[in-house]
Amino acid sequence: MPPYKLVSRESKSDNTVVRVGDCLIGGKTPVVIAGPCAVENEEMLVKLACRLKRMGVQMLRGGAYKPRTSPYSFQGLGADGLRILAEAGRAAGMPVITEVTDVRHLSEVCRYAHMIQIGSRNMQNFGLLKEVGRVGYPVLLKRGFSATLEEWLLAAEYILAEGNPEVVLCERGIRGFETYTRNIFDINAVAAVKNISHLPLIADPSHGTGRRELVLPVARAALAAGADGLMLEVHPAPENALSDGPQSLPPGDLAVFMEELLGAGTGRRNSRVSA
Ligand code: PEP
Ligand code: MN
Repeated sequence: MPPYKLVSRESKSDNTVVRVGDCLIGGKTPVVIAGPCAVENEEMLVKLACRLKRMGVQMLRGGAYKPRTSPYSFQGLGADGLRILAEAGRAAGMPVITEVTDVRHLSEVCRYAHMIQIGSRNMQNFGLLKEVGRVGYPVLLKRGFSATLEEWLLAAEYILAEGNPEVVLCERGIRGFETYTRNIFDINAVAAVKNISHLPLIADPSHGTGRRELVLPVARAALAAGADGLMLEVHPAPENALSDGPQSLPPGDLAVFMEELLGAGTGRRNSRVSA
């Protein structure tokens, strides 16, 4: 038995399916979660959310508490951002996901969001992991950008060990020596995690590449490797985005991709092979 007992295939051979509203993550069809990196304003987000819903996107994302490398960068709208995100989700008829960066914000985030995101920088914030393990909300656990697969799965284990089985893993790229891309999207991790864990896995090629023109090719690769869905950053005017504009897709590009995906042009091969 591996050290991540509860999340391992050994402890549960059938795939876990996590339900968020009408959205089933880990089911037969891949799920698309999309939205801006950060919530910026209500009018823009409501309009964008409705457009995303029409395309077939199943969940709306948007950061209210943003973990930024520089203290001088836009930090997110905080509580106002949560309220706006919830309103946009309601207007469009989609569940919403947002990041919690601090245990002190957890109850407030749970009031507005249907799914809680733990960001890459907090993957080993063990106090936060234990707290989200005690709430009855599904959790998207992003991989730390320097975390091994074992460290990542042990972080998920913290949440399950506290009694919350509704965990979805998210591969979002790791640090490497290459500077052309923001991160190295670890396609190996997608196939490997689907073999060694029963938890669903979502791919985030937006942070994984950091470059808009690479997002959709890497998204297709992730689905082909077995990912259960995608998290994609999209912004109506990426050049003016308050965070992560260079990796944000314009809605028109996402619409074309969604047609391809829903038309089953991109097949997810969910075949598990033995090691
Ligand atoms: C995000 O999803 O906007 C984000 C900050 O992601 P990560 O934690 O993967 O950097
Ligand atoms: Mn972002």
